[in-house]
Amino acid sequence: MPDRSLGSLTPKFRKCVNAFIRSLEAAGIPVADSTRDKRLQKAEFGVLITETFRSVERQNELYDQGGVTRVRGGGSYHNYGCAVDVAITHGDPETGECVIDWTPRPVYVFAVHEQATKHGLSWIFGWDELHFRPAGKLLAECRAEYEKWQARKASKTEMAKRFKTARVTAKKASVRLREARTVPEGGSKLKLRRQNVEKRKGEKG
Ligand SMILES: [Zn+2]
Repeated sequence: MPDRSLGSLTPKFRKCVNAFIRSLEAAGIPVADSTRDKRLQKAEFGVLITETFRSVERQNELYDQGGVTRVRGGGSYHNYGCAVDVAITHGDPETGECVIDWTPRPVYVFAVHEQATKHGLSWIFGWDELHFRPAGKLLAECRAEYEKWQARKASKTEMAKRFKTARVTAKKASVRLREARTVPEGGSKLKLRRQNVEKRKGEKG
């Protein structure tokens, strides 16, 4: 299954894509990641997000299928969270049916391009006109950006883990300290509890 999540895109590229989506929406073109989306089902013309991040393994699979992509794993902007694929959809307000238009008329494609250019997105003329990536950015730059982001995420997780361990240790220590304080000299916690129970029984009787 293709990944359609915007969260899988690098923060920088995600910002551009979010702005692009807002622009399309402002132009009256709804955007969603499923044809089951109510707004896409009602709109004569909508935009479906079909894929964002693509793993190297999936890229190789698609390459082997033939006709889908021209590059092997590691050679696509998708592999570094720096590309988004969309499709034009047509919904039927009467029936609520939404279909993907695989051979859209230029008028629809132009309407999408018009908003894409505003936010620094480019596409490949005559080949993949609904595949968007950061304009003027080399694959190597995107790869570096992606790797930096991944490293940042990994170090954040590591820090969070260490912080959690430190907190647990501190909590355990403070519990032990409290116990040490509450237990009377020569007594145990259990003894103390028993004494309390006895006392309560005595009060009742
Ligand atoms: Zn693509």
